[in-house]
Amino acid sequence: MIPLTDVSWQTQSWQQVLSQGVKTITELNRLLDLDLPEADTGFPMLIPATWLARINPGDPADPLLLQVLPVLAEQLGDTGFVTDPLQESQFTENPGMIRKYQGRVLVIVTGQCAVNCRYCFRRHFPYEDVRPDTRDWDLIAARLTSTTDVHEVILSGGDPLVLNDRHLAGLISRLEAIPHLRTLRIHSRLPVAIPQRVTPALVRTLGETRLKTVLVNHINHANEIDQTVINGMQALRLAGVQLLNQSVLLRGVNDSVQALTNLSHQLWEAGVLPYYLHQLDPVEGAAHFDVPDPQARQLIADVRAKLPGYLVPRLVREIPDRPSKTPL
Ligand SMILES: *Cc1c(COP(=O)(O)O)cnc(C)c1O
Ligand code: SF4
Repeated sequence: MIPLTDVSWQTQSWQQVLSQGVKTITELNRLLDLDLPEADTGFPMLIPATWLARINPGDPADPLLLQVLPVLAEQLGDTGFVTDPLQESQFTENPGMIRKYQGRVLVIVTGQCAVNCRYCFRRHFPYEDVRPDTRDWDLIAARLTSTTDVHEVILSGGDPLVLNDRHLAGLISRLEAIPHLRTLRIHSRLPVAIPQRVTPALVRTLGETRLKTVLVNHINHANEIDQTVINGMQALRLAGVQLLNQSVLLRGVNDSVQALTNLSHQLWEAGVLPYYLHQLDPVEGAAHFDVPDPQARQLIADVRAKLPGYLVPRLVREIPDRPSKTPL
């Protein structure tokens, strides 16, 4: 039995923490002193020790636990909740490359994540079909080179920071060589899920590239941001990385004015600006997280009345076929 006081992860590399994530309810119950039921949902549980450490033991309603805990409700179908809610397959140009909006291209770098979020809109994504290997990068680089109206590349996944520093640096130097690219954006949950991921080598690579760099974090609740997260963000910010955050509005996790204002304050503490608050994508298995639009609008109106404008995220929904995210 691993006692709750086991903090061996504090001295582990991010790769060790990543590979030793908790994958069974039995182990989770033991670590958190809970009695949660098994739920066989087809989307595996994955929780790194660094995330577990921010969950209050003994609290089955903890907002960090609810984001990662498989529950039986995931198996209940709900009309309108489908496997590919954003119809991404229709916008996929090369395997792993999605061009939906003008001027920017999203590249699925890997299907792997540090933590499996139960509401993830790509939980049914056919990563096996699109995982870019070296050859795909040749294709993608060729396509980006010939598409001169693309100025920004968005690395997404899965989680692109699952790639190691050497691999990332190689990839970034390929992108740098494409003259019309100006911005490199990384969408990642790793600097929060496993703060050790912000290595000196990563900070150096992002700081030295000629590309403008943007890290869009994915943080849903203030409790995700502890001192180790703040330290990592500070290192990135000092290297010149623009830090933003996107959240998903989730019933039971952050669907209150208090939770959302606390989140914005804590993001500010970490030097991160709120960017988007997404309405849940209707992905099969996530209906229990849904917050109705009228309630979402009221929440953001109440938040706007309490915070400076720069701490209020844009409430949006992604609707396939639109030229941008749709403000609510
Ligand atoms: C969300 C998204 C983007 C980025 O949109 P921004 O509004 O620039 O943040 C780009 N490509 C795809 C496919 C997306 O889903
Ligand atoms: S980290 Fe992002 S891509 Fe991975 S499971 Fe969570 S929401 Fe989905």
